[in-house]
Amino acid sequence: MEVILADYLGFCYGVKRAIGVAHDNASEDGTASTLGPIIHNPQMVEQLEKEGVGCVSSLDELESGTVIIRSHGVGPAVYNEAKAKGLNVVDATCPHVRNAQMSAKSLVEDGYSVVIIGEPKHPEVKSILEWAGRNAVVLDTPEEAQAFPACGKLGIVCQTTFSGAAFREIAAELLDKAKDIKILRTICNATDQRQAAALKLAGEVDLMLVVGGKNSANTTRLAELCRKKCMTYHIETAAELQDEWFDKINKIGITAGASTPDWIIKEVYKQCQR
Ligand code: SF4
Repeated sequence: MEVILADYLGFCYGVKRAIGVAHDNASEDGTASTLGPIIHNPQMVEQLEKEGVGCVSSLDELESGTVIIRSHGVGPAVYNEAKAKGLNVVDATCPHVRNAQMSAKSLVEDGYSVVIIGEPKHPEVKSILEWAGRNAVVLDTPEEAQAFPACGKLGIVCQTTFSGAAFREIAAELLDKAKDIKILRTICNATDQRQAAALKLAGEVDLMLVVGGKNSANTTRLAELCRKKCMTYHIETAAELQDEWFDKINKIGITAGASTPDWIIKEVYKQCQR
């Protein structure tokens, strides 16, 4: 059986950077915590906990110590609250996310109504919305874009991990909504590269394995894309592999989300070599 890895897979720049920041702040007395899971990968979160980097879901859980802001970023209120509590803030917001946050903020300051194209419940999208502050909405379907009212000045930004094709489809519905339109395509290359490489590979193999957290939006999207081309399973670890998936399969493709650690990808690759 031939097993092929996608040309681009696994940790992206922003995640690598955030994990590095977390490692750098690990301490035996456990005084450093990430606000929310550092990445959407339960195995990585567990490993960091062993190294002494905890995870809290709210600043209410911290009285002192270091709080690490994860790559998805947070809104300005969180920085203010952490500062008021005297916490040491270590910011691992991905620079691409920071760019989307600041783009939304400056569009609103320049008088634009802002549309953020992205999943409304995604933490990154929530953070972009919070930086925009006012006069901003989140849309994630062409139907919602059609229903968006006309306005004088319209600015569009995007969740960094949103699909390029879906972004174009939604943005196209907004083109006639204002005379003055500014589109800031804040999608990050890592997403496009992983999606294009996964789609290409899915077209060449009998079965795709998409490795990564079930709670990872970008991994889930990779699986959705691959399913359009061939039989696809989304797994978190090699332990989920099932023998019957490999019946009459000659070629397997493997891809992984931007938040999937190398060691998990390697394990899946090794176990597929049968
Ligand atoms: S996918 Fe892109 S924007 Fe998101 S953390 Fe990775 S490098 Fe940053």
